[in-house]
Amino acid sequence: MTGREQDGRGCRGAQGAAGAPAAVGEGRPAVVCPRFDGVGSDGAPVRLGIMGGTFDPIHQGHLACAEQAREAFGLAGVVFIPTGRPAFKRDRAVTDGAVRLEMCRAAVAGNPAFAVSSLEVDRPGITYAVDTLRALRDHYPANVELFFIAGADAILSIARWHESAEVARLARFAAATRPGFAVTEPFKEELASRGAFQVDYFEVTALAISSSYLRERAARGLSLRYLTPDPVREIIEARGLYRLEAPAAAVAGGGKEAPWTP
Ligand code: NAP
Repeated sequence: MTGREQDGRGCRGAQGAAGAPAAVGEGRPAVVCPRFDGVGSDGAPVRLGIMGGTFDPIHQGHLACAEQAREAFGLAGVVFIPTGRPAFKRDRAVTDGAVRLEMCRAAVAGNPAFAVSSLEVDRPGITYAVDTLRALRDHYPANVELFFIAGADAILSIARWHESAEVARLARFAAATRPGFAVTEPFKEELASRGAFQVDYFEVTALAISSSYLRERAARGLSLRYLTPDPVREIIEARGLYRLEAPAAAVAGGGKEAPWTP
């Protein structure tokens, strides 16, 4: 394993930001990320976690969630895949994908069980989970079982996702609930009636922290210390993210990313 891979910074999507194939290792392009691209190549059954979210910004709750999912479901590792242009957030500004990637990489650095992939940020257009799951399923052999981990509020809308029947076929789902967020039995039954979704629910106490809480604090100039890893906090401070007068280039639609069109 190279130094870049060890600190989680070597993960690229299939295409570099400029559209050129991402050269990794011995000239082979990374498909998901170098650290986990070879998972399952020995033919043994293995589970891989895919942590999907906007991560605007990533925080301790997300990290604790990934760690607890890794333990609970016996995952070989967890790949964080920040969304490019989230399908259900076309009406609001989201921090530039490259900056959210940078924060994710800073957050997981040093944890050999975690990595970050730019698969979705590099893909043009609206981000649909089905495209990501297809890319992952095409890459990994059948002995790799994919667990898509996300917030329960996102997963509970799964029946409305683009090509939801295909989504159900391609992965299992781990829905993380916040304290006080109850998923009722009638709701689970309703979801089951809408498709063959395999969803496991698990409560993550640390998810009492939310990205919106961090954004609100940053906007008011309050400290983010202990809410997100220090390297992430430093990026937020250095770039002036989430301040009321945030630089235009930090926000999708206001800088280097093209405005979203519904
Ligand atoms: P999100 O706003 O990032 O997350 C929804 C809720 O879950 C928020 O409360 C969020 O808290 C929490 N959360 C986010 N990521 C989490 C994670 N990995 N583990 C635990 N909690 C998490 O939702 P989103 O970005 O729209 O969607 C999440 C995932 O679902 C993404 O991968 C997205 O691509 C997929 N999705 C796909 C479709 C589609 O294909 N049409 C539609 C919707 C969602 P914080 O605010 O604190 O992060």
